[in-house]
Amino acid sequence: MSQLDAHVVILGAGHAGGTLAALLRQYGHTGAITLIGDEPIAPYQRPPLSKAWLKGEADADSLALKPTEFYPANRIDFRPNVTALSLDRAAKTVSLSDGSSLAYDIAVIATGARAIQLPLPGADLEGVQVLRTAADAEKLKAALGPGKHLAVVGGGYIGLEAAASARALGAEAVVLEREPRILARVAVETLSSFFQAYHEARGVTFQCSVNVTGFEGKDGKVTGVTLSDGRVVPCDIALVGVGARPNDALAKDAGLPCERGIVVDLEARTADPSIFAIGDVTYRPLPTYDRSFFLESVFNALDQAKQAACAITGRAAPPVEAPWNWSDQYDLKLQIGGMPFDADTTLVRGDIAAAKFAIFHLKGQQIQAVEAVNAPPEFMMGRQLIANRKPVDLVKLADPSISMKEVAA
Ligand SMILES: Cc1cc2nc3c(=O)[nH]c(=O)nc-3n(C[C@H](O)[C@H](O)[C@H](O)COP(=O)(O)OP(=O)(O)OC[C@H]3O[C@@H](n4cnc5c(N)ncnc54)[C@H](O)[C@@H]3O)c2cc1C
Repeated sequence: MSQLDAHVVILGAGHAGGTLAALLRQYGHTGAITLIGDEPIAPYQRPPLSKAWLKGEADADSLALKPTEFYPANRIDFRPNVTALSLDRAAKTVSLSDGSSLAYDIAVIATGARAIQLPLPGADLEGVQVLRTAADAEKLKAALGPGKHLAVVGGGYIGLEAAASARALGAEAVVLEREPRILARVAVETLSSFFQAYHEARGVTFQCSVNVTGFEGKDGKVTGVTLSDGRVVPCDIALVGVGARPNDALAKDAGLPCERGIVVDLEARTADPSIFAIGDVTYRPLPTYDRSFFLESVFNALDQAKQAACAITGRAAPPVEAPWNWSDQYDLKLQIGGMPFDADTTLVRGDIAAAKFAIFHLKGQQIQAVEAVNAPPEFMMGRQLIANRKPVDLVKLADPSISMKEVAA
């Protein structure tokens, strides 16, 4: 049997799994494709859940990667509400929560990541929630509105986006952060201060260096977040946004090597030639930085879906690109290119006060990463320079009167 005839079973119907199913058909795959997902709806985009969709600026249909008719029309057997329980690598079968067992020629693990829940007293109260799925977002949206108080535990991008959306809906928002500054894990100090000030000017309050110890409630519903110093921050809803963990249990239980996620190569292959893994669940090579790492982004879901689709259908592997990500808050569009690995210095180009600037992370004269706020040329050219590994003239880079094209020339 050629690979094009193979029965491909995709476990996880998210951004990566849904994209792979569509790409396989686009690349001429003729064999059966089964797409197993534990959510009730067809693959959808998660980024709007904390942004446009939460604010009511997008509807449920606009989240979908493809209309529901797409799957039967393209002979993709999409099975919602079904969880993959285990993989038998010797028998090449996967056992499913509906009691059935499915044989595969190729299995693709695309189970994504889950939001970390805090095992704290009161975490099970109504109104304490995470934001990972459309169902989570629906719950959050229903609880927000004028006069409501949102407490966000964790000052990361998803929490900040939710706080901005809450303000747009007329709710109050407070961000509680354990570190001395927000975005401590993912951004430099300049960017943290910029975002905090921008939020504060729009009514969000911040408490950094605080330790959340639990949640208080009345009649089973959350009324406040308790801190280690004894204070209680009142709220109607508490959003826990403290990161995610890969859903890699299927692979671990099947004996596949995992680090922080399933170890794959640049074709998205695991150590088992019949099993691929794609998306948030993987620990993948980043050739630009001579290392492997995990990426939780749409870029990664699309990139690895393409890698797997090419490998399965016998196409050449797609070119290596620098990773990217984004965040929308108020009228700010943050675009992040690359990863700041091994950077020894940062350089700011543009005007922070005017909310139009980019922070470049440099290793000598090489750009490792760029964080661009309302600065698309800096992001686009920066990302190209990251991928090309081309040294830049730092004096030119720091001078916004010199175009990014000229800097890159
Ligand atoms: C609120 C929010 C905002 C975001 N904003 C951005 C952004 O601005 N920019 C950006 O680049 N990225 C953003 N992301 C991240 C991006 O959405 C993810 O990187 C992307 O969804 C990863 O795709 P995936 O298919 O790997 O995982 P997912 O989209 O999580 O899909 C995995 C699917 O597998 C299912 N599943 C898990 N285990 C099983 C099982 N055993 N059996 C069957 N099904 C299973 C899951 O329920 C899920 O439906 C955001 C994420 C969230 C939650």
